[in-house]
Amino acid sequence: MSKTAELLSLDRDTPPSHRDLLAIAAQIGKEVAEPAASEVDQHARFPAETVEALKRARLLGASVPTELGGFGCSIGTLAAICETLGQYCSSTAMIFAMHHIQVASIVYHQAASPYFTEYLKDLAKHQYLIASVTSEVGVGGDMRSSGTAVEVLENRFSLNKEATTISYGAQADALLVTSRRSQTAPPNDQVLTLVQKADYTLEQTSDWDTLGMRGTSSPGFRLRSQGNVDQILPTPFSEIATQTMVPYSHILWCSVWSGMAKGAVARARSFVRAAARKKPGTVPPAALRLAEVVSKLQTMQQNVSAACFQYESLLASPSGKETISTIGFALQMNNLKIAISEMVVQIVMGAMGICGIAGYKNDTPYSLGRYLRDAHSAALMIANDRMLATNATLLLIHKDI
Ligand SMILES: Cc1cc2nc3c(=O)[nH]c(=O)nc-3n(C[C@H](O)[C@H](O)[C@H](O)COP(=O)(O)OP(=O)(O)OC[C@H]3O[C@@H](n4cnc5c(N)ncnc54)[C@H](O)[C@@H]3O)c2cc1C
Repeated sequence: MSKTAELLSLDRDTPPSHRDLLAIAAQIGKEVAEPAASEVDQHARFPAETVEALKRARLLGASVPTELGGFGCSIGTLAAICETLGQYCSSTAMIFAMHHIQVASIVYHQAASPYFTEYLKDLAKHQYLIASVTSEVGVGGDMRSSGTAVEVLENRFSLNKEATTISYGAQADALLVTSRRSQTAPPNDQVLTLVQKADYTLEQTSDWDTLGMRGTSSPGFRLRSQGNVDQILPTPFSEIATQTMVPYSHILWCSVWSGMAKGAVARARSFVRAAARKKPGTVPPAALRLAEVVSKLQTMQQNVSAACFQYESLLASPSGKETISTIGFALQMNNLKIAISEMVVQIVMGAMGICGIAGYKNDTPYSLGRYLRDAHSAALMIANDRMLATNATLLLIHKDI
């Protein structure tokens, strides 16, 4: 029996172990994501077959608590899955990451709301996919600022937003949308609202013909939605962002990039091994560069794991929330994202240097073009300059380095 079939045959009450989940993710990566990745990239299409395989393995409910029917995965397990998938198809890994960032934002901030508790149960049961709507025309990538406001009338709301980018917007079953709390609220007094498929319409306003991450299928959309006020998360968005959305985003994105770097280095390693086999008893000149790039990869992976371990430990500690809300922690998370988003490009370039023309060509087992194009999106996912500007302000008041 295949590993996927084994997992599917598990009793619903028995959540799979970390090891089982990684084995499943690796199998889906190798057998479904990798064979489709070039075509997904070429046609900038949603990796439907891979997301379907993730759903069959019930991985879209991985971060839902076990008592609500999910696997109750920690961020450490999610990060490891992101890294695993990232080796095979960056877009799939990023979709998986973005979905779980949304789920975690609900899990940690729903405050036992009956609506959200039911929703999480439904998500685990039906494997719903949630997309994120934070960026906005006129505001750009400043997640902590909204132009649009949710309009509440008695127990109903309407929420319309011009979104610059919604990854897998057309394929998602629900959207988690930032907005101002009301028409009179300032841009940073925001709330987060869940709208389900029946609550909204999306009108596509731009295309997604990009350099990389083409399979995330992320054009602009005009969102129109309505619903019940229960769908607005009770916690202010400022708290959700600080405690969960930002740390989850930066750790899971970095894990995806780490997986992409690992995939590129794996190709460089097979290139060097093939060269060594051709001249037994000699060390190919590129082996030195491979040693260099493997050392960078290890540094990258250790940085991501350390940040993930620290965040996980803080989440488990009674006073951890206080530390997560400090300027020092915000700086650390921003620095992680900035550093890893730069390293992924350097590492893929290092792999390209090793493979040479075989890496540059699109039709060899050592092709690295897709990894390199995908890697360049890392610095843009919340622009690094925007983050450096935030850090510059924070450093004026933060005492420690
Ligand atoms: C693959 C991918 C998937 C995405 N998916 C989603 C999604 O699902 N949902 C979603 O909401 N968004 C999504 N985004 C959007 C993303 O998160 C950013 O919001 C968006 O890329 C930022 O747009 P921008 O480059 O125009 O940056 P902006 O933030 O609008 O900035 C424009 C330029 O100005 C510079 N700049 C801006 N502010 C400052 C500052 N204070 N100091 C210095 N320089 C500054 C930046 O460096 C940048 O070059 C996605 C992006 C990518 C690449």
